[in-house]
Amino acid sequence: MRRLNGRKQIVILGGGSGGVVAATNLGRKLGHDHDVILIDKRADHLFMPAFLFLMVGERQTSDITRSLGHLAKRNVKFIQSEILSIDSTRQEVVLQNEKIAYDYLIVSLGLQTRPDLVAGFAEASTHPWELEGAAKLRDALAAFRGGRIIVGVPLGPYRCPPAPYEAQWMIDDYFRRKDMRDRVQIEYFTRDPEPAGEHRNPVVWMDAESRRRNIKQHYEFVVNSIDPEKKIVHGLYHYSISYDLLVMVPPHRPAQVLFDCGLAETENGIRVDYQSMKTKWENVYAIGDCADMPASKSGGVAHQEADVLAHNLTVEITRKGRPLDLWLHTI
Ligand SMILES: Cc1cc2nc3c(=O)[nH]c(=O)nc-3n(C[C@H](O)[C@H](O)[C@H](O)COP(=O)(O)OP(=O)(O)OC[C@H]3O[C@@H](n4cnc5c(N)ncnc54)[C@H](O)[C@@H]3O)c2cc1C
Repeated sequence: MRRLNGRKQIVILGGGSGGVVAATNLGRKLGHDHDVILIDKRADHLFMPAFLFLMVGERQTSDITRSLGHLAKRNVKFIQSEILSIDSTRQEVVLQNEKIAYDYLIVSLGLQTRPDLVAGFAEASTHPWELEGAAKLRDALAAFRGGRIIVGVPLGPYRCPPAPYEAQWMIDDYFRRKDMRDRVQIEYFTRDPEPAGEHRNPVVWMDAESRRRNIKQHYEFVVNSIDPEKKIVHGLYHYSISYDLLVMVPPHRPAQVLFDCGLAETENGIRVDYQSMKTKWENVYAIGDCADMPASKSGGVAHQEADVLAHNLTVEITRKGRPLDLWLHTI
């Protein structure tokens, strides 16, 4: 896209953690001389780590959502639309009602929850991996009078690997505060083997913390299907776990549009250069959960990638300053 006045158009897909940080940085650094555009199907940014606090009634929806339109104050134009396709040859993003050209494209479309990938999941699991689910779980916990709560994880990538541990502990605290913990059995299943090694290894520590709280851990449990009528989770090799309330993390996958246009190739997302976040397409970068990086799918990682990429694009466009290396300090 060539424009005579030298203005560049930087388009950011997704108004989650990575997209908002990239847009805010670029708007501040370049927004007066160039065009920074952010596109999301939702009108609001959702702060997903707080879904767990909403689950136990410590936050309301209005506390953890912000209108993406506010980015105008940071020289960022917001367009609310489903993203239908990316055309790398024409350097265009196809939206519902228009096409948006780009000189630089940052893809931060996160991972989508895919309840359809486990039979029975949608009817069975009440989970805080979506805003609506967190509110439903808050109501289910408030109505729970005793029994077996099972927290668990699926195969494949999902948002924030430590969060299922936090969910167990917050449910434990919740029922202790209600003075009902003796009537509530909490258990956790994971596809991973029992963690071993030094206590400072986070997963060893988290596993020990759960057991300290009297939360039974089931290891190497791979979910096959769920029977919502009988309230049983069926695993491989005929293992099964029964529940009264199931809080299972849904399977996650990259947005379908990324597979359809050929940018994403695996369930872990878009292949990128680990330093520059460049994808196989010219002037197209991917950050956050949709980037296939050797790091966890977390807001902290998305934030750091967005900061470094925004800086490096600013250096490239203005030809001032020096590029930074990406040095992830939370993985
Ligand atoms: C319960 C829970 C607890 C968590 N706790 C933590 C924590 O403590 N620390 C931490 O660092 N991380 C945590 N995370 C993870 C963190 O929220 C994510 O890793 C982070 O939001 C990823 O940012 P992102 O920009 O890659 O994607 P997202 O934040 O998922 O944003 C993607 C955006 O793209 C939009 N989008 C997707 N497809 C389309 C389309 N086709 N058209 C238009 N728009 C589209 C979506 O609407 C969304 O706004 C937690 C997550 C959950 C669910």
